[in-house]
Amino acid sequence: MKITKIETFVLKVALGKERFYSSQCAFPERNSLLVRVHTDDGICGWGEGGQYGPAEPVAACIEHVLARHLLGEDPRDPVMLWERMYCGTRDFGQKGTYIEAISAVDIALWDIAGKAAGMPVSRMLGGAFRDKVAAYATGCYYRGEDYLDFRKQLPKLADEAASYARDGFKMLKVKVGLLDVREDIERIKTIREAIGEDTRLFIDCNHSYNAATAVDFARRVEQYDIGFLEEPVVPEDHDGYRRVRSRTSIPIAGGECEYTRYGFRDFVGKGCVDIAQPDVCVCGGLSEFSKILALCLAHNTLVVPHVWGSGVALAAALAATAVIPNTPHTANPVALQNAPAIEFDRNINPLRDELLTEPIRQKGGFVEIPNKPGLGVELDESVLKKYLHRHEEVHLS
Ligand SMILES: [Mg+2]
Repeated sequence: MKITKIETFVLKVALGKERFYSSQCAFPERNSLLVRVHTDDGICGWGEGGQYGPAEPVAACIEHVLARHLLGEDPRDPVMLWERMYCGTRDFGQKGTYIEAISAVDIALWDIAGKAAGMPVSRMLGGAFRDKVAAYATGCYYRGEDYLDFRKQLPKLADEAASYARDGFKMLKVKVGLLDVREDIERIKTIREAIGEDTRLFIDCNHSYNAATAVDFARRVEQYDIGFLEEPVVPEDHDGYRRVRSRTSIPIAGGECEYTRYGFRDFVGKGCVDIAQPDVCVCGGLSEFSKILALCLAHNTLVVPHVWGSGVALAAALAATAVIPNTPHTANPVALQNAPAIEFDRNINPLRDELLTEPIRQKGGFVEIPNKPGLGVELDESVLKKYLHRHEEVHLS
């Protein structure tokens, strides 16, 4: 089998008045970079890469640099091709856009390999520990024209948080870091009261604090029974991570902005986190996720993948989540205590909800792991066309 063509698709959906904000930026649109890899025997694979920035540079890396390492090669060798792509871009890659581009292609190669073998990707990766996984809702961003006015926000925030519990979620992750610490603590207090004691609550700072502020914040919110505190400080600040982790009883999570085995070797190896959160569309794809997982297991660090993107990203994350052992083993695993969970973004995103012919949904706070060959998903071409912003293709000459 040979790779004959690689297509890149930049998809965009403008959000208009539905735009929302994290501590770092506004989200005026949702976008995704998808890649479709074609083979000479008719099997195609889908991948997605790059979750945080613009999709165009990721597409350009694939078209202008990575494609030449792939065209004519057998797509059923994703691990070998990963090394070839990484070594071919090491001098100017290593982190960021190039690894996101490798991630997209790598996921597509695993989709092809699974389809060719007639097996789901989770089996190709060594076997699923579970056929469904607990999902946590991600929501409670800063919303509306008065998003900086926390007093006006509190009633809306309470309604939003309660809606996730009503939808069946037993776990919720919410955002802080944009406002004065005292105001963000009011948000947490409001959310905890809205969801009651039975729903688990996690907090994501999106690296908006320095270590001193993060420790202050963490100690003040300990009383609200917080399951983990995510990205308290910037990803480069390993000392800051350790300082925060040693000064609060709340488990520390992070890793969505970390790349490859080399990044996680330092991040996890230096004791920055209790829960590692590689994003398969960012960290290097499924090939590299397997290596990151092994590294985390060697440190007894629970892996809970970060997820942000279209239905393709969600399917890839589910395959990855399926193969994470309970950490440590227990006869009665509990999500995010010793078992993984799937992040289930609840912000508006038609690329997640409309793109797949059979959208991935949660039921009672759980999501099923796809069990059809490959990633187990098919895309609706009309939806692809509807949100298409840019399309390029590179052929075997
Ligand atoms: Mg996060």
